[in-house]
Amino acid sequence: MNILVSLLLILFVSNPFTNSSIEKPAANDDKVEITIEANDQMRFNLSEIKVKEGDTVVLTLKHVGKLPKAAMGHNWVLLKKDVAMADFAKTAMTAKATDYIPEGTEDVIVHTKMLGGGEETTIEFEAPAKGEYTFICSFPGHYALMNGKFIVE
Ligand code: ZN
Repeated sequence: MNILVSLLLILFVSNPFTNSSIEKPAANDDKVEITIEANDQMRFNLSEIKVKEGDTVVLTLKHVGKLPKAAMGHNWVLLKKDVAMADFAKTAMTAKATDYIPEGTEDVIVHTKMLGGGEETTIEFEAPAKGEYTFICSFPGHYALMNGKFIVE
């Protein structure tokens, strides 16, 4: 065996890409996929969503109805813990220009865009601290029927 071959052999054996000791991500890096549907009857199909603290949540909102956004728009808005749902909804009603999310609001953890019938959208976010949160659709008049609990365990 000449020196060059020996050298190549050493490089190959010590190549980090062939090393099997690369560890998998820790369990709390798990992605949790959630699909929630909203319809023309002004309803979500889920009233409760449960995740674990630190989970990466991949949430898809599907508007399974046929009505356009202007008549039956739906979004998914996760409110901070101390926010009163009715108060937020009242303010959101006036924010038509920004799809019923008040500009610069500090009441929202995360939200999707507003959808019309047949549309869907996906957002990704890290689950907040343990506790019970409220999600709503902030289209005017929808929150009373379109709300649910987002529980972080
Ligand atoms: Zn809605």
